Amino acid sequence: MEIQHISASAIKCFETCPHKFYHEYVLRIRGETHPAANAGSAVHYACERAVKAKKNDKREESDPLFWMQEALKKYDVQKAYYENVLTWIKTCVSWGYFDVTNTIDAEHKIDFTLPVGVPVVGFVDKLDIDGNWKASIKDIKTQKNPFTRQELDNNWQSFLYFLGVVNEFPLIQNIVDIEFWCLRHKKQIVQLAKTDYDIILKRVNDKVIEIKESDGTRVCPSGLCRFCVAEGCCHHPSNVLKTDKTVGDNTNIIGQALTDVERAKAILKTLKPDFRPETVPATEETEEVNSIFLF
Ligand code: SF4
Repeated sequence: MEIQHISASAIKCFETCPHKFYHEYVLRIRGETHPAANAGSAVHYACERAVKAKKNDKREESDPLFWMQEALKKYDVQKAYYENVLTWIKTCVSWGYFDVTNTIDAEHKIDFTLPVGVPVVGFVDKLDIDGNWKASIKDIKTQKNPFTRQELDNNWQSFLYFLGVVNEFPLIQNIVDIEFWCLRHKKQIVQLAKTDYDIILKRVNDKVIEIKESDGTRVCPSGLCRFCVAEGCCHHPSNVLKTDKTVGDNTNIIGQALTDVERAKAILKTLKPDFRPETVPATEETEEVNSIFLF
């Protein structure tokens, strides 16, 4: 697949399903944003504006609530989420997000090119570097669940942020903190070491090579299919059920009596005997804990 640039969310999408990646990042077909994601974007916006204002000594505007109305409007947040946005902003305040003593920037751009020639793009929500060159990358998360240990240890976002910040500030201390501020839960911290820079760079570079070498046809059906822009045009069994006009009444009756997986298997068996989608197993969840990750 031809890719112009790469981001953590793009890699995550490829790992979820290469065919989904093909639609979203090659064909650039994006679906509607989930209402909860819009609420998260509003929180990010209010916090970014408030941090920037505080750094510039604009007293009134340094209160994130000053920006809330504008943020809700900008991201077309549904009323049902107003309370969440308010709560999450207040959590940021109480956890100390607006201490800008060592803040370099909010929405700090990550900008470097991998050895394979693909530029990396991304934005750090807040970058702090203190007088002793201790770097702390802060990323606001409004996700429903905290990260599992496995998700923290294999976190592309932390890898890309780390590489970008080390590239830009080579004098920072060896251990770089990447703090995920999971506002519904707790702060979860990943620590990466500059001495492992080459290993991390190779890991990201190898992944991007894998993406480039993929033809984007492999499908990985999962519960996320219902949010997929490719829904209805890929070979995911549930899409076959929804879109294949050869599916008759009998199949639907049988389908209602079976679980989703059994139903999909039955339909594939009877209606598409020659179709064998290549699948990968869903990621196993492990117990979630704060992670200190060093290679
Ligand atoms: S519907 Fe599911 S299997 Fe099909 S492309 Fe989307 S995520 Fe992949």
